[in-house]
Amino acid sequence: MTAHYVRDGAVAVVTLDNPPVNGMGHSTRVAIADGLAKAAADPAIRAIVLMGANGLFSGGADIREFNTPKALEKPTLRDLIAMCEASPKPVVAAIEGNCMGGGLELALGCHYRVASPKAWVALPEVRLGLLPGAGGTQRLPRAIGVERALEMIVTGDPVLADKLSGSLIGQVITGDWLEGVVGYARNVARDDSRPRVRDRPATAPDDPGYFAAARAKAAKGSQNLPAPQRCIDAVEAATTKAFDEGLAYERELFLALMNSPESRGLRHAFFSERAAARIPDVPSDTPVRTIRRIAVVGAGTMGGGIAMSFVNAGFPVTILETQQAALDRGMVVIRANYESAVKRGKLTPERLEQRMALLTPTLSYDAIADADLVVEAVFEEMGVKEAVFRKLDEVMKPGALLATNTSTLDVDQIAAATQRPRDVIGMHYFSPANVMRLLEVVRGRETAKDVLATVMQLAKKTGKTAVVSGVCDGFIGNRMLKQYKAQASALVEEGASPQQVDRAMEAFGMAMGPFRVGDLAGNDIGWAIRKRLYAEDPATRKQPIGDRLCEMGRFGQKTGAGWYRYEPGKREALPDPAVDAVIDAVRSEMGIKPRAIEDREIVERCVYALVNEAAHILEEGVARRASDIDTVYLTGYGFPRHRGGPLFYADRVGLANVIASMKQFAATTGADASFWKPAARLARLAGEDKTFNP
Ligand code: NAD
Repeated sequence: MTAHYVRDGAVAVVTLDNPPVNGMGHSTRVAIADGLAKAAADPAIRAIVLMGANGLFSGGADIREFNTPKALEKPTLRDLIAMCEASPKPVVAAIEGNCMGGGLELALGCHYRVASPKAWVALPEVRLGLLPGAGGTQRLPRAIGVERALEMIVTGDPVLADKLSGSLIGQVITGDWLEGVVGYARNVARDDSRPRVRDRPATAPDDPGYFAAARAKAAKGSQNLPAPQRCIDAVEAATTKAFDEGLAYERELFLALMNSPESRGLRHAFFSERAAARIPDVPSDTPVRTIRRIAVVGAGTMGGGIAMSFVNAGFPVTILETQQAALDRGMVVIRANYESAVKRGKLTPERLEQRMALLTPTLSYDAIADADLVVEAVFEEMGVKEAVFRKLDEVMKPGALLATNTSTLDVDQIAAATQRPRDVIGMHYFSPANVMRLLEVVRGRETAKDVLATVMQLAKKTGKTAVVSGVCDGFIGNRMLKQYKAQASALVEEGASPQQVDRAMEAFGMAMGPFRVGDLAGNDIGWAIRKRLYAEDPATRKQPIGDRLCEMGRFGQKTGAGWYRYEPGKREALPDPAVDAVIDAVRSEMGIKPRAIEDREIVERCVYALVNEAAHILEEGVARRASDIDTVYLTGYGFPRHRGGPLFYADRVGLANVIASMKQFAATTGADASFWKPAARLARLAGEDKTFNP
């Protein structure tokens, strides 16, 4: 049963009970409809309460039913809402915990709504490129006013129900929940009116430019995506059309959005992230190790950010350094980061002190010996890492997890420095580690399953999106990034400017173009890696422009110049004639006659470079699923979410079309023909007319 029916005197209480979030799947909808019918048929019942078990009303649609025929089976959510509205006995929605999406739409169809003091309501459909499709856009403006409703529907942000007391919410129940709710229902049953939200007016704001301004604002904030615009269209319709016409219009807009590429991309992104948490050979009931105390080795850029991400989730963290000065510097940076959050109003001064109190700086390994997890973030040198892990092996208590944040080194070799390689794992954070959501969890050859399960769970607790990667140079994300950057550089050699490449990729939707990213992160890191590769293999393709800029000390923002120049203290990337001169010089040395390059070619070459490398990564089993790779790019590399990730994007283009373009690039870019050889996985899927994401 996914909803229960209980009688409390003259009040029927129908409780949604479909863990974890009382999603309104088909069986729940049937159970609610049954409850409503039973209450209607019982002459002793005077009022009906709809509420939720598990501490919340409902999270909305049951996502397990998404894209299945069950989602469309009767009774639909719209049928249930119509039943509530038409009920001759008053229906009260009792909102506790979360009341989201379809849950709120159902509540809006009830005659009355009460809430617990800590209940949250939201219509978050826009985040999946949709709009509330069961009357939410028509009823919410009537319930709470057009401006507030528009804000909620266009942003999808949750609002404390208490703040909507007097409009959406008839009463906030402070005493005993069930008693209060049933008492309220008994009271309203004395009244013959059956107030319906649909009968209230939705009055447009006086400002005649209101909706135009809202559209412009939404376009700017969303890369001009269709869903926020259609949300506004629907809310505006609530002010101009009769209720049923507005409802029909909302439905029409909803169905159109359902089929939009943007919504497909956003839904893919959503489901991919969830899927990433599941590891086929590590079932969800795998026992995990208890993590109470955490240690971080190295208080530099990454160590500091990693420590903050644990502290923010309430874990006590001990940070270890070898030098007092480095330790002090690390602690100062952490405090400064929190202070800036206080200045921006994101953190209270009390919270700042609480967080700092969770941090213990130390120079001694003894102080970390009983940590349950230690994350190493020292210099990126194998010798240094091996020495640290030998020491950790010596001092750490048995069963402690030993993690490395290396970005390029072999996790298996690091594990081999210990007598307990089963406890060793990679936790590859992204900078700034306290902000970036992505965590690549690197599963070594010997990493134990419970170690992996523990880290996946911990990632979730600290607000990270974890994706499992096998061991290889660069893991999933940076290995692909290398090919992307190589294309960006080649495009500049051939005739594009860094500005054009950045503009084209940003117009595609990347948070930042590749050269602006380079300047932000520091071009010296890539340069150091390239120099090593040139030395190891003289056949490595050079990136002469980037190399020359680094030789000139142009490392990016931190040196005031890189692919762009920067005014002191500012972050705006300004074109620099000195860079143009370097580009011209390199082109003439290479005998290249620059050609005009279209933005479309820029986007295709950069994205297909990602796609082809991703296909290798899949084929080698470094990533388990195409959707894991998409998640890496969406959460760690600024790939536009509405495009669903590089592989989802390629699927939509059609893999045969991707290969056709690659062949053309091989022909036109001559020297780099080998770059465009389709990876086996890509060629096979294209040949079978299949896609990366099934
Ligand atoms: P960093 O130079 O800012 O910090 C390294 C810190 O480690 C320094 O404070 C140093 O004093 C300390 N240290 C060195 N040897 C030590 C030892 N034996 N014991 C204790 N402390 C020691 O470097 P970072 O950018 O924070 O990088 C650290 C690690 O994280 C590297 O492995 C790097 O590849 C990886 N990483 C970096 C980034 C990034 O964007 N910077 C991203 C992901 C991963």
